[in-house]
Amino acid sequence: MIGDAEAQMQEVVVASGNPHKVDEVRSVLGALGWRVLSLKDVGADHAPEPDESGTTFAQNARIKALAYASVVGRLVLADDSGLVVDALGGEPGVHSARWAGVDGDRATRDAANNAKLLSRLSGVADALRTARFVCSMCVAAKDGRVIAQSEGVLHGWIGHEARGVHGFGYDPLFRVRSSGVSGAELTPQQKNALSHRGSATRAIAHSLARLALAAR
Ligand code: IMP
Repeated sequence: MIGDAEAQMQEVVVASGNPHKVDEVRSVLGALGWRVLSLKDVGADHAPEPDESGTTFAQNARIKALAYASVVGRLVLADDSGLVVDALGGEPGVHSARWAGVDGDRATRDAANNAKLLSRLSGVADALRTARFVCSMCVAAKDGRVIAQSEGVLHGWIGHEARGVHGFGYDPLFRVRSSGVSGAELTPQQKNALSHRGSATRAIAHSLARLALAAR
């Protein structure tokens, strides 16, 4: 039984300041009948960011979902995601967002991260440049219960140069295993159909729908 959370089942706040992520989640959950709100929509865009002290994507998603659900007082979906590069022993992993240690706006940080990635992989043969994007999601209720968790993965490799104009983060360097196109060459719709975040979102929507039915 999910009780109080059930009353809000069709409305969820996405705890992310990244508009690309909110849009990606909205396009999947929105099509399934959910009203997806941003932190700004509920006046919580200045809420203090919790310390992402976890060592896994799943731990960090859980920390964020629980923290924001208690502040916002609604059902909250949080994700933690990043790039795992095999030749770098799994780096940048949970440190993906600020891997290069550069301050500034998102575009500045992304450019520095991508420059670092190319430099760390310089001289690494194509066959050893395998990588994956991972996204863990967690939905938590305001009373501190974790309602659902999911994970999605997109396999690929790291190219030698940036390609494409869409997306964010490491998308221009990431090559999707199934097609060889870069993450930034995919339209938002194409990316949602394949991506780690799209898969994690569809899986969590499925869990939420099952819970809602079980609670009837
Ligand atoms: P988060 O906001 O803590 O989940 O950090 C995720 C970071 O991982 C982002 O800032 C990007 O650098 C990277 N990342 C996660 N998902 C993607 C994606 O779909 N494309 C490109 N980069 C991503």
